[in-house]
Amino acid sequence: MRKRTLAAVGAIVATVGAVAMVTLPAQAGTSRPSPKARELARQVLPAGDGWAATGTGTTGGSAAGDASISVARNRTDLVAALGGDNTTNATNDTPKIIFVSGRIDANVDADNEPLTCADYADPGYSLDAFLAAYDPEVWGWDSKPSGELEDARVRSTKNQAAQVNISVGSNTTIIGLPGSQIRGMNLLVKGVDNVVLRNLTFEDAYDCFPAWNPTDGSAGNWNSKYDTVTVHGSTHVWVDHNDFSDGNNTDDTQPLYFGRPYQVHDGLLDIIKGADLVTVSYNRFFDHDKTMLIGSTNTVGVDVDKLRVTVHHNMFANIGQRTPRVRFGQVDVYNNYYRITDADTYEYSWGVGVYSAIYAENNVVVRSAEVAVEDIVYNWGGTVMTEIGTLVRVGAQPPQTVSLLDAFNTANDPDIGTDAGWTPTLRPGPITPTAQVQRLVSKQAGAGRIRV
Ligand code: CA
Ligand code: CA
Repeated sequence: MRKRTLAAVGAIVATVGAVAMVTLPAQAGTSRPSPKARELARQVLPAGDGWAATGTGTTGGSAAGDASISVARNRTDLVAALGGDNTTNATNDTPKIIFVSGRIDANVDADNEPLTCADYADPGYSLDAFLAAYDPEVWGWDSKPSGELEDARVRSTKNQAAQVNISVGSNTTIIGLPGSQIRGMNLLVKGVDNVVLRNLTFEDAYDCFPAWNPTDGSAGNWNSKYDTVTVHGSTHVWVDHNDFSDGNNTDDTQPLYFGRPYQVHDGLLDIIKGADLVTVSYNRFFDHDKTMLIGSTNTVGVDVDKLRVTVHHNMFANIGQRTPRVRFGQVDVYNNYYRITDADTYEYSWGVGVYSAIYAENNVVVRSAEVAVEDIVYNWGGTVMTEIGTLVRVGAQPPQTVSLLDAFNTANDPDIGTDAGWTPTLRPGPITPTAQVQRLVSKQAGAGRIRV
């Protein structure tokens, strides 16, 4: 079984959460946003703050008229606020501000009554039958499942997707009120421009019907469909001061089937299919495996010259991989805090994929002694990256200047070149000295931290 030291990370997050924080205020006795919260919701991405500041910048729903400011307390409210019809809301470009209040669960029916995996299952599907039919002893290792049971699984997936995929249109700000959560949802920012997501707590976009692929890797894999947030072919997106995690439905609680983890989660924040000009700042990503995929295919197509993303002042704690994994994009990764303490579930942090150009500056890594420094960079077919100013500390020992790229290159061939071929200019001011990053990110990243 895969082991996780969740208690340790939970304690860190709880401790951090106890640091004096100024939360987004709601008016006493109501869940209506206060005038201050309304002012905060109209904030736009600061000038020069990452790739999303390019050109017209990122303003989200800041131009919303009073009639386009709403509070969503459940899935139905959220769909209504986004335009009224989830199948067409992606085309609603009216400027709008949506406050999230309380816990919004995506796995509900039209009356906001909970739906279980059994409610979504097609009559032709059962997990027991699926496991019997596609056991490698029966089906073999050479091809993906096909046939009646796989078709029934796909129909079941469509039933769940219709509830949990929630589409966001252009010119939208979604902002969380104190204590709010979005659970089990895959927020889809697809084919749109100018979206701001702030102060939100995203948890556990679980898939009831993972797919089995015996040809994925050397031992096959179970793969799932939903990210908590997917930025698909969209531009000018600012993802700021949010929490992303598996909640209490962590991977270590799932069974093994065919000897492989039954993975019910996909990404936390995937940026794919020609998406461009995205700034990801001051978020906490924790207790999850595949975290931030920037580019989902090696195919030379829509991603060329796109997938430009800035990732700064985020915390990544108890994460398996992809923080981020990059293809094609010029991606500025600076002032992030990596906490890597479970060697059993850890895979790598920076995935250097085809045509990628990661520029990593002043990041801090806190690792357990069992996590090797040469394992933090991984080569997925890329050839270059720039790394400056990384500090690594083991436990409570003093931090040391370490080049993770040099460590990778010493341990592996071929080497990854040390010049990404570009220098970031879209930074709002001087970046944080690495020695201050752990403390600053611990205090300021995540939901509930925006200063008003
Ligand atoms: Ca994904
Ligand atoms: Ca080498």
